[in-house]
Amino acid sequence: MKLITNYQVDHKAKNYEIIVTENALEQEYDLSHYHKCFALIDTYVYRLHKAKIDAFMKRYDIEKVLIPSGEAVKTMHHFSTMTELLLEKNIKRNDCLIAIGGGATGDFTGYVAASLLRGISFIQVPTTILAHDAAIGGKTGINSKHGKNLIGAFKRPDRVIYDISFLNTLNDAELLSGFAEIVKHVLLNGNYKVNQISDIVNDDLSRLMQAFNKLDDLKDMNKMQTWITYGIQTKLNVVERDELESGVRKYLNFGHTLGHALEFSHKLPHGIAVIHGMMYALILSGYEENIIEKFYHWLIQLGYPEVEVKSFEHYYALLSKDKKNETDSISFVVMEQRQGHLENVFYLKSFEYGTLKKSFERW
Ligand code: NAD
Ligand code: ZN
Repeated sequence: MKLITNYQVDHKAKNYEIIVTENALEQEYDLSHYHKCFALIDTYVYRLHKAKIDAFMKRYDIEKVLIPSGEAVKTMHHFSTMTELLLEKNIKRNDCLIAIGGGATGDFTGYVAASLLRGISFIQVPTTILAHDAAIGGKTGINSKHGKNLIGAFKRPDRVIYDISFLNTLNDAELLSGFAEIVKHVLLNGNYKVNQISDIVNDDLSRLMQAFNKLDDLKDMNKMQTWITYGIQTKLNVVERDELESGVRKYLNFGHTLGHALEFSHKLPHGIAVIHGMMYALILSGYEENIIEKFYHWLIQLGYPEVEVKSFEHYYALLSKDKKNETDSISFVVMEQRQGHLENVFYLKSFEYGTLKKSFERW
C-alpha cells in the first residue's frame, strides 16, 4: 500500500510518501540526497528485531543510536542529551534522523529533528499499531512535569515507512492500545446513523465489530493492515484540511481529554486510556444507555481492562490543566445528536463541573 499525502499549502508544498506493507523496510528507498542518516531506535524494539534493523542500517550506511524504550524517552533530559550527542557527532543541515519505534520514539525523534539546527529531515519507521496515528500529521514533542506533550513542534517527516511485520511482537496491551485509535478513526469517519430503536447502524463500525470480536483477532496482521490503512486515510483527510489544528483537527482529540488524565494517573497505555475517555465522551454526547452498553460490551469482549477509577475531583483537577482550554470551562469533543439520532458530526463543547460529575457517575 502506498499513500501519498496531498497537502494544500501556499508556501513550498512538501508532500511525503507513506508506505504501508509487510517488510516495507526491505524495499528500496532513495536516501542518497542526505549527507548522513542517524537512526534513533527504541532499545526494546531493536532487541526484538535486530536482524531486520541491522540489515536496513547496513544497506544505507545509517548510524545507530539506541534510545530508552517507550514513553520514558520523552523528557527534557533525554532531549538535551540527544541534541548534544548529535551535535558532538557534527550533525549537518542535510543529515536525516530516522525514528524506529512506537509513537514515543517518533514524537521524540521528530522534536529533536525539528529543533536541531532549526530543523533537519526525519523519517518515521513506526513499529506499533498506535503509531499509525502518531506517525501521521506532523505533531512531535515531549512531556513536561505539567502534563503530556506540552513541549513540541509541528514537523512533517520526509517519509513514513510502515513495516507491518514489526507488529507481530506487540503484547496484548499494546495491541489494544493501538486498536483504540482505529476505533476512534472509524467513529470519526464512519458513515453511520443510529436508528429509532437505538441500534448502531454504522457500515464501517459494524464491519470493524464483525472483523474483530476477540483479542486473537487483533493478531491477524492482514486484517490489521486494512484497518491501519483506513485509520491513516482518515487522519490524513482531517490533517490535510487543518494541519495546524485551528479547526477540524481538534476532533481527533475525541476521547483524549479524560484519556490523557487517565493515562497520566494510572500509567495506562495511551490507547487504553483513550478508549475509556471515548466512553466518557459518548456519555457527554448524550448517547442512550443501550448504545453505550453495546459498545462497552464489545470493548470488554475484545479484552480492554476496566479501570479502577479515582474520585471525580482527582481527574477534574487534571482536566483543568488541559492545554486545549482557552477559558475556564472544560471543553470536550462530543458527537452531535439530532432528534434522537446520533451522527458522525463532531464539535467542541464546554462543560461545567456539575455536568461533568454527573456523567462521571454514569461512566
Ligand atoms: P510507545 O512508543 O511508548 O510504544 C509502546 C511500547 O511498545 C513501548 O514499550 C515500546 O518499547 C514497545 N514497542 C514498540 N514497538 C514494538 C514492537 N514492534 N513489538 C513489541 N513492543 C514494541 O508508544 P505507542 O503506544 O506507539 O504510542 C504512544 C505515544 O504516541 C505517546 O507518547 C503519545 O503521546 C504519542 N502519540 C502521538 C501522536 C501524534 O500525533 N504525534 C498521536 C497519538 C499518540
Ligand atoms: Zn491518541
